[in-house]
Amino acid sequence: MSKILITGSAGFLGSHLTKELLGRGHEVVGVDNLATGRLSNLQDVMEHPNFRFIAYDVSDKSVIDLDGVQAVDEIYHLASPASPKLYQAASLETIYVNTIGTQNMLELAKTYNAKVLYASTSEAYGDPEVHPQPEEYRGNVNTWGPRACYDEAKRLGEVFCYEYHRLFQLRTKVVRLFNTYSAGLRNDDGRVISNFVTQALTGEDITVYGDGSQTRSFCYVDDTIRALILMMEMDEATGQIINIGNPTEHSVLDVALLVKQLTNTPSKITFHPLPEDDPKVRRPVIHRATDILGWYPEVSLEDGLKRTIQSYQAKLALI
Ligand code: NAD
Ligand code: UDP
Repeated sequence: MSKILITGSAGFLGSHLTKELLGRGHEVVGVDNLATGRLSNLQDVMEHPNFRFIAYDVSDKSVIDLDGVQAVDEIYHLASPASPKLYQAASLETIYVNTIGTQNMLELAKTYNAKVLYASTSEAYGDPEVHPQPEEYRGNVNTWGPRACYDEAKRLGEVFCYEYHRLFQLRTKVVRLFNTYSAGLRNDDGRVISNFVTQALTGEDITVYGDGSQTRSFCYVDDTIRALILMMEMDEATGQIINIGNPTEHSVLDVALLVKQLTNTPSKITFHPLPEDDPKVRRPVIHRATDILGWYPEVSLEDGLKRTIQSYQAKLALI
């Protein structure tokens, strides 16, 4: 049994990871300032004897009060708004949590000689000119635009991990996550799957930005969580950056049509201006993940969407 600290544990990925690690018998300390997460995501485990929740802003320079936890073996640093709508509404906080917050977690890890996994993003590639994106691709990121607070802060977060590995031999690992989805995303999160599914189930218009020809590669949360844990466990992933995502690419319009078909909704598809700097294509090369971790995603978009729609239906009390 390991003692594991998860920042962002009340968020979408953090709450799924918390539950999975508790289920595997580990002790978990969840840290979150509830900026974009919700305690309701953790309600099933709040009373779990191996779980402790600490409300805390990890960008705060003061040392985190681990509330009696003597040491931690592993830190998953997931804290950060992730939806473009939410990170642009909290741009400075997004910069701080991925830079100062990352350094704070690396310092904590140094104190306890803990392993650190940092959740970076496919946004590190910006609006890519190389397609699909291997980890070696250095990206095409605009420093002077609405996505920069997220993209560039994540890139600097990666640099912190690199330097703590190089200077102090800290066992850091960086995962570049591509779009992950499932139940657990807030209905008002603003990301495409939560928007489309909520809109379809409530009979509102399905809002496609641009002409919908831009592409993304959607990974179901169970596949992503499995990869995060493998990455933390495997020594071969230390000092590495690894893409985690589903290499099957879909246009946004195709996703809208699929959601419409699976929900059998009367909602209309409507078209709206494409947000500034919206990446035109995105698809991961996952050779490192398959070679190093032996990982490959198992859930197709159609199956994942069916599960997601069912959960949203239950949440919206429509069934
Ligand atoms: P989320 O917004 O649901 O969860 C993030 C959590 O971090 C929230 O609970 C929020 O309250 C918390 N948080 C934010 N700032 C904090 C701070 N200063 N101190 C403490 N807690 C703080 O987002 P998510 O989708 O679960 O993403 C988790 C991580 O994975 C993020 O770092 C994100 O950038 C990364 N990521 C996610 C995706 C994806 O598709 N879900 C893709 C790429 C990268
Ligand atoms: N998108 C859309 N309608 C929405 C929300 C998003 O067409 O209601 C598009 C968005 O412009 C982008 C893609 O869907 O091209 C994925 O957006 P999301 O915000 O989920 O994440 P991103 O991959 O852009 O970070």
